[in-house]
Amino acid sequence: ATPPQLAAESPRPDPHGFKRRGVLFVLSSPSGAGKSTIARKLLASETELGVSVSYTTRPIRPGEVDGRDYHFVDLDTFREMVANGDFLEWAHVFGHRYGTPKAQVWNVLEQGRDILFDIDWQGAQQLHQLAGGDVVRMFILPPSMPILRERLERRATDSMEVIDARMDRAANEVSHWDGYDYVLVNDDVEECYQSIKTILAAERLKRSRQTGIIGFIRKLLRSGEMVPLA
Ligand code: 5GP
Repeated sequence: ATPPQLAAESPRPDPHGFKRRGVLFVLSSPSGAGKSTIARKLLASETELGVSVSYTTRPIRPGEVDGRDYHFVDLDTFREMVANGDFLEWAHVFGHRYGTPKAQVWNVLEQGRDILFDIDWQGAQQLHQLAGGDVVRMFILPPSMPILRERLERRATDSMEVIDARMDRAANEVSHWDGYDYVLVNDDVEECYQSIKTILAAERLKRSRQTGIIGFIRKLLRSGEMVPLA
């Protein structure tokens, strides 16, 4: 079977008139490695980037907003959505279920924007199987495990047991580093953020994504501004 066409061609050509295929950017990391800070900064500065807000069965944490951080639903609702085929992918994480809704992803791609997914390695793997070359997988590592623990403790939203469980889970998550296209160490949030912006820019310029560039090349050749190589 042919894989579904996930990434739509942008209906809004860039200033040169090129059309471009949308990119599905996946950002994974153990929790506490700084992923949400970086994701927030990216979404604030990149107008061409939308975000996928997942559904989850885990309880809402203080400071989180339903519909912004996640759509918080009960187990029955989640199961029903799975049965209806509403998810592109879903997985068990920390004893709860998390899923990426299809409808929202189509929406963003149809607007001609790229989309950012904050999902774990299982989600990265499933999206890659589904959409192959349209997916760019980035993994953020903490500088060390003690530093990760410190960051989780400073956050103080979780009990010791939960922090221990998150540390175990982090080690497991890190062991899947080889399922990613890019691996970054978050020593310095600003540096890591800049590296990710560079990855976004480079991936968007890939020839395979610039579906409209062929028209521009033909024009260049016709106008004599460029001489074809023999
Ligand atoms: P948290 O509960 O700390 O917000 O997230 C726990 C983990 O679940 C994170 O690693 C996050 O990336 C992952 N996650 C969030 N949403 C999804 C999703 O829709 N699918 C998958 N596979 N993982 C998700």
